[in-house]
Amino acid sequence: MKIAVVGTGYVGLVTGTCFAETGNDVTCVDIDRRKVEKLANGEITIYEPGLEKLFLRNLKEGRLNFTTDLEAGIKDASIVFLALPTPPGEDGSADLKYVLGVAEDIGKLLTDYKVLVDKSTVPVGTAEKVHAAVAKNYTGEFDIVSNPEFLREGVAVDDFMKPDRVVIGTSSERARKLMGELYSPFVRSGNPVIYMDERSAELTKYAANSFLATKISFMNEIAQLCEKLGADVDMVRLGIGSDDRIGKRFLFPGIGYGGSCFPKDVQALVKSSREVAYDFQILNAVMDVNEKQKLHLLPKVRRYFKDDLKGKHFALWGLAFKPNTDDIREAPALYIIEELLAAGATVTAFDPEAMKNVRQAIGDRINYAENQYDALKGADALIIATEWNEFRTPDFLKIVTSLKNKAIFDGRNLFDVAAIAELGFHYESIGRKAVT
Ligand code: NAD
Repeated sequence: MKIAVVGTGYVGLVTGTCFAETGNDVTCVDIDRRKVEKLANGEITIYEPGLEKLFLRNLKEGRLNFTTDLEAGIKDASIVFLALPTPPGEDGSADLKYVLGVAEDIGKLLTDYKVLVDKSTVPVGTAEKVHAAVAKNYTGEFDIVSNPEFLREGVAVDDFMKPDRVVIGTSSERARKLMGELYSPFVRSGNPVIYMDERSAELTKYAANSFLATKISFMNEIAQLCEKLGADVDMVRLGIGSDDRIGKRFLFPGIGYGGSCFPKDVQALVKSSREVAYDFQILNAVMDVNEKQKLHLLPKVRRYFKDDLKGKHFALWGLAFKPNTDDIREAPALYIIEELLAAGATVTAFDPEAMKNVRQAIGDRINYAENQYDALKGADALIIATEWNEFRTPDFLKIVTSLKNKAIFDGRNLFDVAAIAELGFHYESIGRKAVT
């Protein structure tokens, strides 16, 4: 099949590459000329485990192409995916200017039947808006499908190649057939393709992300309570997670959710609810808890340094909003950095993949280390903000000899409390006993 993907970011590049991998001819379109040049020359633009190999193979074999020319990109495609940004507008609602702008442009270019697929996360009713935007300039036949994307950064290729489910929202039999064919190689093991109407598909994506964000904020509140009551959140997590109705996953407390999706999607669902005069109370609390949780380590750090962070120097391990990605959008680490700098402290950070993006975002307001141990040199304490695997079993001797104080503030509960107590650290984490 000939496919076009408009928007070649995290979702678009994974989508395009994975469809090429199953034998389709894919053209990815992006307005970012530099990005397109890099990709066309075989230089991958995001860090995503396993993606580069597939990207290079399909590029070499001619199934994956890149262009800035929308007309040429969609000309021969029977299905056109929109993987465009839907950032929060000033009022928190999803800004549809990219999606509707491109839909209008596509309307000017259509000459024959095509299926246009919303892969971006968009509010309920967007499929109708996209239809109207195309129809402004094109009176021929076309269909709109809502096909929300559930991939997780860090395991995006696996998620795309072996999805738990594929959701296809359409009222068109013709579009349904084409979409079913396109996805059939991805669901051979029996995972479902769930067909539904466009509105339900659009809401499914928001409901999924909001539910997961709720789970995180719930556990973060349990962790807060554990600290106050002297319980251990790891034990509580194991205790509840073994109940099938609750499940073991997504029960880890930390310093809040970040990334390009949860914060904006929860906010957008709250806004959509308000528009239909519904007060989504749980989600208001979820957002509130998350805002506070991002800075939950700071009072602990302040207390240790007797409320005087001026002139103190911190090592920060982890910048990405989660491990195995270079994505720093809404990363808790960035909020921690701002608080430390505002208090007069300095920071040297290390992240295996995200330092380039942070440097672009905040420049040299902090220092960047070559590796995790270099970051420690001369620091008053270590703060951990992302649970990269390589931070899990560090050389504690090196930590001891580099830090001025044996103090670790761990926002991701990487270490065993009893073991680290034996090493003589001052160690504070989330929802567990502090050791001094
Ligand atoms: P992104 O910012 O990484 O990529 C968007 C791309 O669109 C950029 O490369 C940008 O240059 C390009 N673009 C902007 N305007 C354009 C135009 N007029 N024509 C062509 N290209 C244009 O965004 P993303 O993370 O890939 O997210 C895309 C959508 O998918 C969002 O709605 C997001 O909520 C949703 N989503 C994201 C994830 C994720 O983990 N990142 C997961 C599921 C769903």
